[in-house]
Amino acid sequence: MTGDVLTDWIRPEIRAASPYSVEAVPEGALRLDAMESPFDLPPDFHRKMGEEMAGIPLNRYPDGSASELKELLGKTLFGLPPDHLFLGNGSDEILQNLFLATPGPILLSEPTFSMYRIIAKIAGRPVATATQSEDLTLGTEVLIEAAREHRPSLIVLSSPNNPTGREIEEEAVDQLCREFSGAVLLDEAYFPFSGRTLLSLRRRHPRLMILRTLSKMGLAALRLGILAADPRIVAELEKVRLPYNLNLLTQRAATLVCREFLPVLEAQVRSIVVLREDLRRSLSSLPGVEPLPSSANFLLIRIEGKDPAEVARGLAERGILVRDVSRQHPLLAGCLRVTIGTAQENERFTGALALILKGIP
Ligand SMILES: *Cc1c(COP(=O)(O)O)cnc(C)c1O
Repeated sequence: MTGDVLTDWIRPEIRAASPYSVEAVPEGALRLDAMESPFDLPPDFHRKMGEEMAGIPLNRYPDGSASELKELLGKTLFGLPPDHLFLGNGSDEILQNLFLATPGPILLSEPTFSMYRIIAKIAGRPVATATQSEDLTLGTEVLIEAAREHRPSLIVLSSPNNPTGREIEEEAVDQLCREFSGAVLLDEAYFPFSGRTLLSLRRRHPRLMILRTLSKMGLAALRLGILAADPRIVAELEKVRLPYNLNLLTQRAATLVCREFLPVLEAQVRSIVVLREDLRRSLSSLPGVEPLPSSANFLLIRIEGKDPAEVARGLAERGILVRDVSRQHPLLAGCLRVTIGTAQENERFTGALALILKGIP
């Protein structure tokens, strides 16, 4: 049997797609490509987690509604009752549930997080796009115009946006929600680093939903995403969610974090913000490098006079992984995205970049 015959029962758009590839990380490589925190939790957390693990009944399904965790997350992170929250195995899973639940096109403001498009394709949703302004701000008028034209059921925005690091003004989201009658999802994956949320705008616009994740604030391994939405929306999404989507390890670890370790995570976030500004200053002093302002835990940097793909390759040869986003969108031409590391890691990155730009092998 040829490959074509063997797989012709699979939807053509899936056969035409390529898997989201996360490249194998070489031993000792410095990962500045995935927006992970450079800091692990303290040994005390790992010890307590070990004790938790020892007592877990592995023969039983976990709490399917994660009610204890939901209650805690609502109290500690959102100031909301648990029926306003919907939890997912990472926020990617929440996006998938949302896209599966809605019938119409999804409208995106590009450039933005590449997973929106990928998940829309898998869920069979058409994607419409509005292009951001030259300075990578939202371009509200263009977005509202695109909403009129394409009549999406859902608009997905990210603030701070990945990969630009830019925030969306409250007034822009407010205006959009007033003029657009569908639902609006605001992905605040990088909220911890900007400290600004539009959560309270939900009071005025009940169709506005706020998406968060624990991944970027030091808990990428857990896979926990949280959606804050009107309880009536949450009730509908509960019908799409697969049972037991949050494993017991994740539930226990996140519960422990909420009870005892939030101050540790907050301190780590504050350090990352300081490190980000330090890195931006040192990159600014390199000729041909323009680090753009960022409210997240990464920097978008524009490289002049050298192919960014080549620069990324040069860094990889030195064991440093960054993301070449230059071909993702015309507005990102010449751009690399680099995650903030520890002070030493950022120095190693800056040093290697300086050598590559000088053409030193
Ligand atoms: C990383 C990222 C996510 C994915 O978060 P998970 O909870 O790890 O699935 C969602 N949205 C944006 C904008 C991101 O950059």
